[in-house]
Amino acid sequence: MSTRIEAKRLIPGRGEPIDNGVVVFDDGVISYAGTSTEAPETPDANVLHTETVMPGMWECHGHFIGVYTANIDELWNTRPQVTTARAVGDAHAALQAGFTTVREVGGVGVFLATAIAEGQIVGPNIYGAGATLSMTAGHGDVHSMPIDMARKSFERHWGEDGIVDGPHEARAGVRRMLRTGARVIKIHASGGVLSQLDDPHLPQFSKEELEAIVDEAGRMERVVAAHTHGKRGMMAAVEAGVRTLEHGTYIDEEVADAMVEKSVVLVPTRWIVDFLDKGAEERGMPEYAKEKAKAAVASHADGIALAIEKGVKIAAGTDIFASRLWGRNGEELSLLVDCGMTPLQAIESATANGPSTLGPQAPNSGQLVEGMDADVICVSGDPLSDITILGDPDNVTHVFKNGTKYKG
Ligand SMILES: [Zn+2]
Repeated sequence: MSTRIEAKRLIPGRGEPIDNGVVVFDDGVISYAGTSTEAPETPDANVLHTETVMPGMWECHGHFIGVYTANIDELWNTRPQVTTARAVGDAHAALQAGFTTVREVGGVGVFLATAIAEGQIVGPNIYGAGATLSMTAGHGDVHSMPIDMARKSFERHWGEDGIVDGPHEARAGVRRMLRTGARVIKIHASGGVLSQLDDPHLPQFSKEELEAIVDEAGRMERVVAAHTHGKRGMMAAVEAGVRTLEHGTYIDEEVADAMVEKSVVLVPTRWIVDFLDKGAEERGMPEYAKEKAKAAVASHADGIALAIEKGVKIAAGTDIFASRLWGRNGEELSLLVDCGMTPLQAIESATANGPSTLGPQAPNSGQLVEGMDADVICVSGDPLSDITILGDPDNVTHVFKNGTKYKG
């Protein structure tokens, strides 16, 4: 049975919107997307009328880790069965908010993906990283506890421990993530905010370690996503050949130029920086993070605005990490508009640009184009005149993932 959606406006993901658009799909694949005048006859189709039809959105930086606070120590105090069970609810919330694909850069996404594919639980298409790769004392280490406890914590929650030192262990770390089902490799190439003792300005991992990770991942057709705030970490990661920079807090002209030259994609995570500014306190942000957060908040918007102006390719991601925050993913789009994007560009960053963050592992989706996967959402209202519409899941009236209806 085919589905036909007739919309006041069709936003294809890339390119201009179409007034009075029609989308038709059967067997999970789009067979037509375009004007109503050229649309084929579909006498047997289920017909749906909506105000706006657009591709299912992509969350390109999230974490299904099932904690409630902004303190990673919580993993140690909570059973992995509990954190995983919470994450099941978060995956459901993401899909209901119109996010049909999640690139999950550290957490249990790799395991949720299995149960979702089996049809046992409901959630988006997840491309997970497993655990993150970090040097000892890096952003992906837990500095407050003995290192064997930190390692154990990641191993029991996310399947493997990602703390690696030296090119040999870095390569082995990539291989360990592959055996959890990783579709992307996530590394920490600078210090971070929510880690106790490191400095976001300073680079992490040596040149040799970065190159070993990129090489090993590339051989297995995975791209590398690099958490980076400071300039030196960003330049080293770009130089080593990572596909994406995550956060990009202290981007300047030189970094932006290097990213454009090497086709590196930026996942800005405006949402988390905004959250660190406004909401993290009540989520138990530890004292040690407060000064670092303040500094990041002061610089991040300017860095992202510069990247937009310079034409760096941008894919939307929030860095939503805690249970019960999932579902707010669409708030990222209006934050990107605040940094200088048009609403149409913000939608492109959350749809058509998504696959570029996964390289060879990417599905054929992100746009309403004939032949692509039928990841399609219907929206009440016009997000091109008010982008905040996409931040409220209630405005997403219908969600189809691979042609199957999950909402509406
Ligand atoms: Zn993150």
